[in-house]
This record gives sequence, structure tokens and C-alpha cells, in this order.
Amino acid sequence: MSDSPIFTTIDYEREGKQLGVLQVPQSFNTAGWANYFIPIGVVKNGAGPTALLIGGNHGDEYEGQVTLMNLARELDPAQVQGRLIMLPMLNRPAAEAGARLSPLDGRNMNRAFPGRRNDTITGQIAHYVSQALLPLADIVIDIHSGGRTLQFLPSVNMHNLANRQQFDEMVRAAKAWGAPYVFIYEDVAGEGLLPSYAESLGKITLGTELGSASQFGASMLRLAADGVKNVLRLYGILSGESAPPPAGQQVVEASQRDDYIMAPVSGVFEPFLEMGDSVAAGQAIGQLFSTEQPFVSPTPVVARTSGILFGRAGFPLVQQGACVGTIVRPVGDF
Ligand SMILES: [Zn+2]
Repeated sequence: MSDSPIFTTIDYEREGKQLGVLQVPQSFNTAGWANYFIPIGVVKNGAGPTALLIGGNHGDEYEGQVTLMNLARELDPAQVQGRLIMLPMLNRPAAEAGARLSPLDGRNMNRAFPGRRNDTITGQIAHYVSQALLPLADIVIDIHSGGRTLQFLPSVNMHNLANRQQFDEMVRAAKAWGAPYVFIYEDVAGEGLLPSYAESLGKITLGTELGSASQFGASMLRLAADGVKNVLRLYGILSGESAPPPAGQQVVEASQRDDYIMAPVSGVFEPFLEMGDSVAAGQAIGQLFSTEQPFVSPTPVVARTSGILFGRAGFPLVQQGACVGTIVRPVGDF
């Protein structure tokens, strides 16, 4: 199926449910002939579309991990029409470390796509997903949150695409999730994202920003679990009707680089606004105290665009250049 060195006993064409692992060659000082196991579940029943569902692309984002561990365990093949491929902990080394990046190679899984055969472990996993799994998928759902670094108003998100037919269908699927916001974003921190790669292949691709570690709780997990099921129902992979989107659901975008406010200096961030508050260009959204010169006037963090505050620093101590605020505006056409 692929030229990946990753081995699995999973047969993606077999009917029924299989819970297993991807075995990634990885040596440790204590284990020379060793494989690292990445959990995978497949449920297939008859003809129908394939959805690829991913959690733990960033290790410290547990919303998708909990959602997909539950879904994979609970689903009965009779409830499915088509196929679900579920990777609850794509970057399991990072998930076990409670970290955004893999502790085995220091890499960000969501900058490693499409990956290479002879790559470090993060790139090898990305390569397997790119070579073996994405070609099978019609729908790709990559469940993220802000982890420990950013807080977010809960959203289902995507890039703005030149292919309007694909884009319109992705917005339709995103609305069906039932989150309060559908968020159209730009890449301001590098390339190699899993959703960008899936979008480029023409897949119906949804990302999410379902809060953050500090917003992790029963209601956010309900939004994750219900949302995945709503999207699967939209495509007939699960039976039943999707719940209607919540009243007041908005499509918003952060389309300008200046919508992503980077910390001008390192320090302790004092926010002036709550998420959802209106912001005017030129307004300070907070200020940064120097830990080295605590009684020097703090450095203001100024918005360069107007809109509403959608994302905010998730931990008060921030580094120079870290995104500490995201500003969005409603998109009129939806
Ligand atoms: Zn993430």
C-alpha cells in the first residue's frame, strides 16, 4: 500500500472493526530492536465514504484524543455505512509528554506533512498518513485546540481555498459540526500542516480549535464528540440527522497577517480584554511586564486591525514573537 517502513496488521479493506497500532521503527537506549506504537482504529461496513479522524496531532491537545478513544471503543460496525479510520493520538510521544512537540525528535507533527520515508519519527508518521491513509479518505477531520499556548472561542476551521466548490462544501460541513464559530484562517507560522496538505488533495478537510487546556471540560468535550458525529451524519457514515447548528453561529475570518498579534517582547502578559470583545485598530489588547525589570513601564500589545478578539495567550508567561491575540471579522457571504 505504501513505501513506508511503518508496519500494521490493520487491513483497511476488511469489514468490521479493528483496533490496533501502527508500528514505527524507533530505537531507544534501552531497546534496540524496537517499534513505537501509534494507536489506530478502523470501522468499515459496506460501501460509502471514508472519514479519517485524527486527534493528538499536537500532544497537549486532548479534546480529539478523548473523543476518538471513546468513538473507536464504542462504535458498532452496524452503526456505520462506509469507513472510519481513527488515529486518536497521532503524535503519541508528545501526548504522553503533555507537550505540543514530540520529545523524541523535537518536531511539530503539524509542520511535518507530507513527510518522508527516511525521516525522524514525526516525519515518518506524517509520511504514512500521507501515503497510506489520505488517499483512502473523502473527509479528513483533524481535531485541535489551543493546548497550553492559546485560548480560543470554539471553532471548526479551514483555509480559504481557490477551489470554491471544495471550499463551500467544507464550510457546509463545518457548520454542521455545530460549533459557535466557523473560522477561516491563514498560515502565519510555517508550512507542512496536515489540513493544508489534505486540502491540497481536494479532501473535505476540517480542523478545529476547541478551546484550550484551560477550557478543557465536559461541555467542550461534548462539542467535540457531538460535532464529529454531526459531520459523519451529514455524509451518511452514521445514521440519523445532524443536529441543527446553534442559533447565532458565525463564519469569521482572520485574513490579514496583522490579525495575528505577536508579542513584541518576552514577559508576563496582562490581558485587557475577554475573548469575544470588540477591538479597534490601535487599541492595546494587553501589556507585557519584563521579568528582568518589573518596575519599568510594561510594553503595550497593540492591535493593528479591528474586529473581535477570538484567541488569546493561553499561559501568562510568553516569549517574544508568540501569538498572544487573534482578531477575526464576520464573513458576510454565509
Ligand atoms: Zn494544534
